[in-house]
Amino acid sequence: MLSNNAEFKNLLLLHSRDRRSKSLENELQNLPKAMAALDHSIAIEKESIAIATTELRTLETRNKTLEGEITSIGEQIIRQKNKQLEVKKNEEYQALENEIANLASKANEKEDEQIEVLIKIDDARQTAKIAEEKITLRVIDLEKQRVELDDRENELKQNIEELSQEISLSRTEVEVPMLEVYDRTKKILTKPPYIAPIEDQKCSGCNLRVSNDVISSVLVEQKLTQCDQCGRIVYVER
Ligand SMILES: [Zn+2]
Repeated sequence: MLSNNAEFKNLLLLHSRDRRSKSLENELQNLPKAMAALDHSIAIEKESIAIATTELRTLETRNKTLEGEITSIGEQIIRQKNKQLEVKKNEEYQALENEIANLASKANEKEDEQIEVLIKIDDARQTAKIAEEKITLRVIDLEKQRVELDDRENELKQNIEELSQEISLSRTEVEVPMLEVYDRTKKILTKPPYIAPIEDQKCSGCNLRVSNDVISSVLVEQKLTQCDQCGRIVYVER
C-alpha cells in the first residue's frame, strides 16, 4: 500500500506541516485588518465620551450667561433706585419706577429660566456619567482585545518560524521525485490540501469521482498518483 510506504508517510507529514503553516500565515495576514478595525472602534468610543458630555457643557455655559445677566439687571435696578432718590419731579420718579418694574420682571424671567436650566444640568450630568462609565468599560474591553491581537501576532510569527524549520527537515526526508510531484501540485493548486484520500472512489479534495485508471494506479501499481479531476495527489487510507 502506498499509504504504508515510509516515503509516502514522510510526504504526508510534510503536507500536514505545509497546511498548518499556510493556515497560520493566512491568520497572520488578516491580523492588520482586525487591528485597524479595533483601533477605529476605540477612537469612535473615545469620541463618543466627548459627545455624551456636550449637552452638559452647553447647559453649564447657558447657566453662567444667565447668572451674569441676572447680576447685571440687579445692578441696573440699584442704579435706578439711587436716581429716584435724587429726582425732584413726580413724572421723572414715575418713569424710573416703570423702568425698575420692567427690569424686575426681566430678572424674574431670567431666574425662572435659570431654575429650568439647573434641573436640566442635573439630568444631563447623570446621563453623561452613565454614558461615560459604559463607554469607558467598552474601551477597556476593546483595548484588551487589541493587546490579545498583538500577542497573537507574536505567537503566530514564532509558530511559523518553528514550522518552517520542521518543513525544511521534512523536505529532506522525502525522496526527490516524490517531492517534485508534490511541489508541482502545490503550485497548480495554490490552496491546500494538496494531497487527498480517495473515499468511495471519490477524491476527497474535489469530491469528484476518479477514473478506474487512477484507482488501479493507486491500488494495484501503488504509484504516486494525481486526481484526474483536480490534480491533487490521491491515496487510499487503509
Ligand atoms: Zn480531485
